[in-house]
Amino acid sequence: MASNTQTNENTQELPPHKTVHVSEERVSCNGGGGALGHPLVYYDLDVNGEAHCFYCSAHFIRK
Ligand SMILES: [Zn+2]
Repeated sequence: MASNTQTNENTQELPPHKTVHVSEERVSCNGGGGALGHPLVYYDLDVNGEAHCFYCSAHFIRK
C-alpha cells in the first residue's frame, strides 16, 4: 500500500539548455553552483568555437 501519490509533472528531468557566450577558447562550468551545480570542469572550444558541457548541457559559443 504505497501512499506515495506524486502528481507533479516530472516530464523534464534536465534543466533547459542555456547558451553562454564566451571570449576565450577555454571555458569553465560548474552548472551554476548550488543544488543544480556540478564539479567544476573546463572545456576547450572546438573548431567551430563551440563547446557543450557534459554535465548540464550548457552551450558555449565564442563571441
Ligand atoms: Zn555545466
